[in-house]
Amino acid sequence: MNMTISGARVMDVRASLPRHKTLRYGRRKLTDIRSAAMHHSATKSGSPEAFARYHVGTNGWPGIAYHFVIQKDGVIYWCNDPETISYHVGNSNRHALGICLVGDFRTQKPTPAQLEAANRLIQHLQVQIPTMKQVLGHQEYPGYAWKNCPAFPMGKFRSDYSQYLQKPVEKRDKPQQVPVAISLNGSLLSVTGFLKDGVSMLPVRAVANVAGGKVEWIAATQDVRVNGKDLDETIVSGSAYAPARELATALGLQVEWDQASYTVKLSKGCVAT
Ligand SMILES: [Zn+2]
Repeated sequence: MNMTISGARVMDVRASLPRHKTLRYGRRKLTDIRSAAMHHSATKSGSPEAFARYHVGTNGWPGIAYHFVIQKDGVIYWCNDPETISYHVGNSNRHALGICLVGDFRTQKPTPAQLEAANRLIQHLQVQIPTMKQVLGHQEYPGYAWKNCPAFPMGKFRSDYSQYLQKPVEKRDKPQQVPVAISLNGSLLSVTGFLKDGVSMLPVRAVANVAGGKVEWIAATQDVRVNGKDLDETIVSGSAYAPARELATALGLQVEWDQASYTVKLSKGCVAT
């Protein structure tokens, strides 16, 4: 099956994930697939490898439960052939294809990049597998009303998805920014930054204000300086954003990245005197 999706990054990990030594999942025809089942991983972070290890090692299953796993940055991991009858919705397994979004959505929210990737993936699959007409949450399958999975509202997900389908393609091609939270000395700030090519970009003025730094705008050179230090900033709708590490250095702060909560943690470090 062709899994090149415009505007999305798909990593084929089918051959590299841990599998059971002897047990194998059953197979089906593509036309047996009637629905996509949405799951959350119920873990704050994770990876297809970790889920596969758990499903095989702890549960004793033939392989990873899901056909696709979508990371917080929107990368789609292709884990099983669609023809694989893997275990994720009990008696409905034969007719369902499993899509898992990494995160525990009882306490977290899917990132915009994840939702965008899910929409693109489902749309792509529905072209390749026309019998896959429905998109359901795990909880909506018979016998699973008790299960809080995927722990985001499916009604809204489906209506956003149908609006997404109606949007012209050129309007959808802009990759969404992944927001990152910011904390200073342990308390969460009300402003957020975003990820740009794997680097956290933070709002210069808002962070400098709470951390107590001097911000200058050099109009002649269109430059932003913090405590006299020049930053490699990006202007987004009138506000300057700078790489977390640069801004932290200019403010005399230490910086840490928390992958589980997508948070840039700033703190007053030891100041040499
Ligand atoms: Zn589930």
